[in-house]
Amino acid sequence: MALLEEPIKGTPLIKNFIDGEWVESKGDVVDVVNPVNCETIAKVGISTKDEIDAAVKAAQEAYPDWRRTPAVSRARYVFRLQRLLEENFEEISRIQTQEHGKCIDESRGETRRGIENVEVACGIPTLMMGDASEDIASGIDEYLIRVPLGVFGIIGPFNFPFMIPLWSAPYAVATGNTIIVKPSSEVPCTQAKVAELVEEAGFPPGVWNVVNGGRTVVNGMLDHPNIEGITFVGSTPTMADVIYPRCGATGKRVIAQGGAANILVIMPDCNVDATIPGLMTSFFGNAGQRCLAAQSLVVVGEDDRFYDSFMEKVTTRARNIVVGNGLDESVQMGPVRDPQKKEKILAYIESGLKDGATLRLDGRKTTIRGDYPETCFLGPTIMENVSREMPVVREEIFGPTMGVMRVKTLEEAIEICNESPFHNGHAIFTSNGKAARQFQYDVISGNVGINIGIVAPMAFYPFSGMAGSFLGVLHTQGKEAVRFFTESKVCIHRWL
Ligand code: NAD
Repeated sequence: MALLEEPIKGTPLIKNFIDGEWVESKGDVVDVVNPVNCETIAKVGISTKDEIDAAVKAAQEAYPDWRRTPAVSRARYVFRLQRLLEENFEEISRIQTQEHGKCIDESRGETRRGIENVEVACGIPTLMMGDASEDIASGIDEYLIRVPLGVFGIIGPFNFPFMIPLWSAPYAVATGNTIIVKPSSEVPCTQAKVAELVEEAGFPPGVWNVVNGGRTVVNGMLDHPNIEGITFVGSTPTMADVIYPRCGATGKRVIAQGGAANILVIMPDCNVDATIPGLMTSFFGNAGQRCLAAQSLVVVGEDDRFYDSFMEKVTTRARNIVVGNGLDESVQMGPVRDPQKKEKILAYIESGLKDGATLRLDGRKTTIRGDYPETCFLGPTIMENVSREMPVVREEIFGPTMGVMRVKTLEEAIEICNESPFHNGHAIFTSNGKAARQFQYDVISGNVGINIGIVAPMAFYPFSGMAGSFLGVLHTQGKEAVRFFTESKVCIHRWL
């Protein structure tokens, strides 16, 4: 077992990056723990209200000059950042694995997806172009220009430490805003590396700030009168109880993307050999800690022979997934992020069993490649006989579990998708075009997969999840992010 070299060495203290300076937080210091071996790899300050206020002040002061910097010049900073990210691609990926636990290939995929957003933002002079109409009345022209708004806060979750802040940050700064990024305090090292590269790319001080911490920093952003808008990606309770109400109360723009419990529908005419590898990634990739991870499998039809043979293949494949240290390139699934998350997943498995589900594959005891404590490890778990009203279907588990149910018709499968409180990334596997079209048309889901389990939109498409009744008007990534980070100013010009 050859392990790739760990990039984080010597337990560094992760500092805030405010106004172009690296500043130690005066708040409490907490450990950043690698879930593979439970070792502390870094320390990070939980910043105070004064520290978030200092970052807002710096961003506010940097804004007028940055806003006046022509879009083509701003784009050149973003181009430089893109080049530096590319040069540091492998180190960034390994940092993610070391602080989060995901496999190196998953981290590399995340790095690629994050950089793609930076690349899209390089096109900002074109992307933020407005509209113009000549002679809306005699001698009068009307035109629309997109202008930045000021300071934005960008709040990230633990599961994609690199990519998710980059769903917003490059668009925000390229359009002329200034930003404060607040990574999850569980995984602050990756965004600290990004900030180092932001500094190297020569962004003016105060344009791109990073403040580490938890609720105090988030609340300080949400309540701050000089922050114009927030992008948030995280759990539905935080989104619904904290982000939306407080942004509403202070009149901020907000994109808030919440949790998920996605459903994959299997039609008996699917191409089984092509489908099963996709299912493994969907359910067990990133140890199930993805907002696009599948949680339930709905097998359509009454053909017991198809069901038995399909589930046999799924189970064999899942059983053979290699669990271990993500820096070992032969490993296919790392640990979950921390013991509390593992406990929550175990409690869901117990609840499923209590509700009548049966275990086809029990991941609660798993073989780990290498000598690591079991603390954060779980193997793939498959539960059959789950039903649509069970918490294991209706609530977000966020772990490597698959709950399987059988239905007679596609209509019933779509009904199950649509009654879920989450509508992030449901998918169908079929070789029948009519069924695929019916699913795409009728399913309520921001991202829809057809013979694809992880429906992760490219950077030039919006990340279109819908969370229950919270149907965000705009989303992160691409043109929608550009719309979010700009105001449409309509001008009417009478030529005198
Ligand atoms: P989380 O809601 O616990 O935390 C997200 C961020 O909010 C963190 O920066 C955290 O410090 C902060 N925060 C948490 N509780 C807070 C509170 N009470 N007040 C103020 N700030 C608070 O989410 P998480 O566990 O870090 O991330 C996992 C969740 O994110 C899952 O539910 C997953 O589905 C979701 N997610 C959604 C998407 C999407 O695009 N829809 C993408 C990735 C992850």
